[in-house]
Amino acid sequence: MVETIQAQVVVVGSGMGGGTAAWALAQRGIDVLVVERGEAIPKEAANLSPREVFINRRYKPAETWLDGTTGKPFHPGVHYVVGGNTKVYGASLPRFRESDFGRVEHHEGISPAWPFSYADLEPYYCQAEALYRVHGTTGEDHSEPWRSQPFPFPALAHEPYVVDLAERLRGAGVTPSSTSMGVDLRPGGSCIRCATCDGFPCAFDAKGDSEACALRPALQTGKVRLLTGTKVTRICTDDAPGVVSHVEAEGPQGPVRIVGDRYVIAAGAANSAALLLASANADHPGGLANSSDQVGRNFMMHNNAHIACMDLNRRNDVVFQKTLQVNDWYHDGGDGKPLGTLQMLGKVQGIMIKSWATAMPLIALDVFANRSVEWLVMTEDLPHPDNRVTLTADGTIQVTRKAVGTSTHGTLLRRAKRLMRKVGYDIIGVQPFDISMNSHMCGTLVGGEDPATSVLDPYCRTHDVENLWVLDSSFFPSSAAMNPALTIAAAALRAVAESPLGR
Ligand SMILES: Cc1cc2nc3c(=O)[nH]c(=O)nc-3n(C[C@H](O)[C@H](O)[C@H](O)COP(=O)(O)OP(=O)(O)OC[C@H]3O[C@@H](n4cnc5c(N)ncnc54)[C@H](O)[C@@H]3O)c2cc1C
Repeated sequence: MVETIQAQVVVVGSGMGGGTAAWALAQRGIDVLVVERGEAIPKEAANLSPREVFINRRYKPAETWLDGTTGKPFHPGVHYVVGGNTKVYGASLPRFRESDFGRVEHHEGISPAWPFSYADLEPYYCQAEALYRVHGTTGEDHSEPWRSQPFPFPALAHEPYVVDLAERLRGAGVTPSSTSMGVDLRPGGSCIRCATCDGFPCAFDAKGDSEACALRPALQTGKVRLLTGTKVTRICTDDAPGVVSHVEAEGPQGPVRIVGDRYVIAAGAANSAALLLASANADHPGGLANSSDQVGRNFMMHNNAHIACMDLNRRNDVVFQKTLQVNDWYHDGGDGKPLGTLQMLGKVQGIMIKSWATAMPLIALDVFANRSVEWLVMTEDLPHPDNRVTLTADGTIQVTRKAVGTSTHGTLLRRAKRLMRKVGYDIIGVQPFDISMNSHMCGTLVGGEDPATSVLDPYCRTHDVENLWVLDSSFFPSSAAMNPALTIAAAALRAVAESPLGR
């Protein structure tokens, strides 16, 4: 017999969107069931092991997706665990800039407007920053948007190497500023500023991930239950085409039927789209909530590259490196068009480079890493309907993508390299992100006012199915050129506070 479980609101996925939504619903006294396909990452020595995390891929699923352009399988940058991708994320939690919510002309097309403004989201950015313990400072970064409340906590102090680098960058004519970080450096906080943060699960619960900051507090209210190891496979509308009747899932003990009044899908941009496509039925032949034919389309993941810059004469002794950014060209690269952001990354160790530079001896990689500093060069990936998530006949996720915005990316990359040479780096290695490095993916179920051109309404409710919301990065109409997680959280808080989801 199929087990049936009931709840007022069923949340699928416990990452940034799902965990935050569960927390916000619990604050309103709503009975919530979170259904998560993964298990919690155990606290173990391997949390801190670059070899385990990067070489042995200990916390990544074995699953492969298909690259629709080359036909080749690849290992996606997803983590099917309680807390989702936030368990390993870098916890850089900036707000999108005010202009990111409007229509912006780029060299290779238009970044479309969002169906709500920065002002609409601003109060929820404040709440999300408090929930995820964001440390930051105002007044250093000319690109930053206005805010109605100060950062909850002051910015992280830079280590001496970074202080010196910031000085050299200022000397080269740019304005470095502090990164907004979600780590627990509050007085008495548990962060020890270790070398295993960006890309690693935190052994001390000091990272502002959705399990530590949202889900566990939500579970403590007694209003939220968590079902792990349970993959939702289908969303059903058996009673009426415009109403979800239940979802079907596969749990450790076999099939489960889950019944709610309202449903939140927060499985991440690829899996949420895949789930709607897999839920096609006679009333929704092209996939659930897909009357616009937009489900799965407009897949974006930023145009990103790592640069590793080596100064032969300067040892980099930094432990926690991710504290500095350069946003001088975020809005205007000099010709009125935006470029993007440069952000320091967590300090890379030789063994971590080995995960992709497999032919290089570790000893050489260690020499390089001891003298290098790493940056992320991030530019906007413009939406295109042909860049999309689809399912193959056997249900495998297929991602077809031809990046839009590559000339802008090339310009920022060249500029970043020139800047780094100017401040003393002799050798610059570039690692462009390929389709498997999709950690910032978004846009597969875009939000908008018009049901003919969008899947979700401005509160992330599907236009076609009245009790179905999607609260993850799928709703982004554009990717901006900033890290996505804080915006996912803020939009989830807004949907709970202002739409029927939270009533
Ligand atoms: C190494 C790394 C570094 C990053 N650094 C940053 C950063 O510094 N700043 C930033 O803003 N962002 C960063 N990101 C990206 C950030 O983590 C994601 O944007 C964010 O977590 C996406 O939130 P989400 O809710 O859309 O999906 P996720 O957080 O991925 O959550 C989706 C959840 O749904 C579950 N799930 C999927 N399918 C099903 C199903 N069928 N049934 C049940 N459960 C399901 C998954 O297991 C997962 O728990 C990083 C990501 C990675 C991998």
